[in-house]
Amino acid sequence: METFELPRPLVNTILSQAQQSPDNEICGLIGGRDGRAEHCYPVDNAALDQARRFQMDPREQIETMRQMRDNDEALIAIYHSHPRAPALPSETDLAEASYPEAVYLIISLNIVGVLEMAAFRIKDNQANEIALQLA
Ligand SMILES: [Zn+2]
Repeated sequence: METFELPRPLVNTILSQAQQSPDNEICGLIGGRDGRAEHCYPVDNAALDQARRFQMDPREQIETMRQMRDNDEALIAIYHSHPRAPALPSETDLAEASYPEAVYLIISLNIVGVLEMAAFRIKDNQANEIALQLA
């Protein structure tokens, strides 16, 4: 299985974002160099049904991509949270995933007090899980 390494400080940042939004999905991008995750960039969730979906605010997403380029970073991963669903891609997640080269990270707050995080590659409506390694 492919492995994906995430620095612990980055994991903590993303988890606390998810925890601060227990009812609505949060989302953002992770940029880095040479395939290594370095920074996360939270993006506003602009979906109508934020409890069950995420849709990055388009303008903010473009602005974030530009910021990444200015920092000499490439898009490494896309993260979002599931307040009430397991850390698995939903049908909408599969259908709307449009970056086959990025890792999709899902944080689940499904079980009270337990934070779950899983990583996938999504291509052609198919998700393949990736082993997450905290560094
Ligand atoms: Zn989802």
